[in-house]
Amino acid sequence: MLKTLAYAAAAAKSPLAPYSFERREPKEHDVVIDIKYCGICHTDVHLARDEWGGGIFPMVPGHEIVGVVTRVGSHVAKFKPGDKVGVGCLVDSCRVCDHCRDHLEQYCLNGMSLTYSSYEQDKKTVTQGGYSDKIVVDENYVLRIPGNLPLDAAAPLLCAGITLYSPLIHWHAGPGKKVAILGLGGLGHMGVKIAHALGAEVTVLSHSLKKQADGKRLGADHFYATSAPETFAKLAGSFDLIVCTVGTGIDWNQYLGLLKLDGTMVVVGVPAEQIPLAAFSLIGMRRTLAGSLIGGIEETQEMLDFCGKHDIVSDVEVIPIQKVNEAYDRVVKSDVRYRFVIDLASLKPA
Ligand code: NAP
Ligand code: ZN
Ligand code: ZN
Repeated sequence: MLKTLAYAAAAAKSPLAPYSFERREPKEHDVVIDIKYCGICHTDVHLARDEWGGGIFPMVPGHEIVGVVTRVGSHVAKFKPGDKVGVGCLVDSCRVCDHCRDHLEQYCLNGMSLTYSSYEQDKKTVTQGGYSDKIVVDENYVLRIPGNLPLDAAAPLLCAGITLYSPLIHWHAGPGKKVAILGLGGLGHMGVKIAHALGAEVTVLSHSLKKQADGKRLGADHFYATSAPETFAKLAGSFDLIVCTVGTGIDWNQYLGLLKLDGTMVVVGVPAEQIPLAAFSLIGMRRTLAGSLIGGIEETQEMLDFCGKHDIVSDVEVIPIQKVNEAYDRVVKSDVRYRFVIDLASLKPA
């Protein structure tokens, strides 16, 4: 077994603290990765604090993992020691259901293995995430990081990047399309960069104008404050696509009113409350309210290659792991431009 150093939440309301555990010896198709950096996704905060229920503790969060391959199993064909690789939100899936066969492992009909707070496909072994010094993952769930991208700033592509890339591609963001990104946080700022690179006309809808200069620098054509009531009158019927990244309750009917005929609003942020909806918000202009969950392995590689080609990475604040609890509080306050990334070199034996 491989002794692994980490930070974990012992229970739902516990701060993260040093922890050690064992990962499996690599099997034939496994890759052992020395983790260099791991992003802090808002989902890590939701899960470590058990805000959605069902969390498995002790929990080592982290699903924006980048590192270097140190060992490979005897049958590994895709990777060799020294390769720069990434691991995102899932580390396995059943591989035989219709969705897995269609490269949509994130919608596995038999339940994917999330990177942490989940179970391996044996449905017994608990998975533990990237706030740790190493991880062992089947080669089919490991991604290749383009050589031109810096590892620290590339880490958030593994969740924030793919979570925005997937719906932007699925709903055809591109030239001639008006796309709004609601919420300029970790996910949102990746959405602006990717939608801009895809050629769409991009609008940021943020709760204030504080991030306006950033929005323009990231590639937005327009920037509006949702706290200003005139925004909704001015932008009524404007967008082909709105991607909602905010994880709090909003007035859904008001936002649906910003869509054109046949426009789609995609939910990726996860508010605690249910979504109250007036039927006419959809019926009036044949609108769609949809959802999207991360992305499959093949599409995640496609996204990484796209980001490599367009030199897209995240705007990051790199921290030592000892600052992780402080960083969680700052994520909740939206006090980060735009993603914390943990430097795992700071992880020392407890
Ligand atoms: P984040 O960095 O905290 O960004 C969220 C943004 O929402 C903030 O920057 C802020 O943008 C906006 N916001 C609006 N009202 C807010 C409020 N009351 N408090 C805080 N922020 C507020 O979070 P993230 O990592 O991008 O994640 C966003 C959501 O997506 C979370 O719920 C997360 O769990 C979920 N998620 C979903 C998937 C998926 O596959 N569907 C994947 C990853 C994460 P402005 O300042 O511009 O208003
Ligand atoms: Zn995430
Ligand atoms: Zn499956």
